[in-house]
Amino acid sequence: MQLDSVPRGRQESGTLNGRLVEHQLGDLRVVGYSVAGEETVIACPELNVCFDVGKAPAEILPVDHVLLSHGHMDHAAGLAYYFSQRNFVGNAPGCALVPKALVEPIKALMQAWGRIEGHVSPCRVVGMSPGEEFELRRGLIARTFEINHGVPSLGFAVVDVRRKLRPEYAEKSGPELVELKKQGIEIQYDVEVPLVAYCGDTAEGSWIDHPAVQAAKTLILECTFFEAEHVSRARAGFHLHVRDVARILQRTTNEHVLLTHVTRRTGMRDAKRMLAKLVSEETMNRVRFLMDYRRPRREGPGGGPAAEGPRTINGS
Ligand SMILES: [Zn+2]
Repeated sequence: MQLDSVPRGRQESGTLNGRLVEHQLGDLRVVGYSVAGEETVIACPELNVCFDVGKAPAEILPVDHVLLSHGHMDHAAGLAYYFSQRNFVGNAPGCALVPKALVEPIKALMQAWGRIEGHVSPCRVVGMSPGEEFELRRGLIARTFEINHGVPSLGFAVVDVRRKLRPEYAEKSGPELVELKKQGIEIQYDVEVPLVAYCGDTAEGSWIDHPAVQAAKTLILECTFFEAEHVSRARAGFHLHVRDVARILQRTTNEHVLLTHVTRRTGMRDAKRMLAKLVSEETMNRVRFLMDYRRPRREGPGGGPAAEGPRTINGS
């Protein structure tokens, strides 16, 4: 569906994928769960990355890279379990990119679990600072940027890097290009396409103007608080209030914005209504809330819809 054909306040919803919610944002499939203070885990399976690990739901275990924004329990609790389960099913050790200050505590945590379990699960923990890069696979990198959450934390952009022939050499034959290369002439250049940027938990900050955030096709942004009286709570916890998000959206042109980390206090319908009051229809049309999903209709015995199921979303 063309985004501009979606009427005001009627962004497409996600669909349930087990306990998680799935969205298709252009070429990007996002599968996750995010409620403030409870759990945040957001995977892009085709990119082989998972932003934060939450309680390590089964769906994310095949993903090889966890990009951990910070160490708060609702984002990081499942890390040891993720490593352990990868080992249990015979996968290669999981790899976590984490703020540098968290490397030692995470390694100590794995050692502590080793004493509890009788063996230490293999893991790879890579400490990163803002402005660094990690090659996820050939032509795909994770780039870190600084966010503002009052604890050691990182934002992550996943960037597609394509090598292209410089236009001035476009008419050259294969052997001529080989000869140029032999002479040490750089005949190619990199074209970068930031596919997705994840800002973790954060208050407003210089990250808004970071090129990876500005250029990302999809921006994943927290929007924790909505009520007017909760602005001070947002400030105290280094979180975004819907008023902040409305301001940020005016300064960004990302094709898709996925809002996460909404507090349980605010229902999804109210969250959408409050944001729609603050931004233009055009802006609203590029925004979705991660936890906005359609409950699948279950067929009743006579072919009609079944009675409303239980409130849990894991089918149990
Ligand atoms: Zn946090």
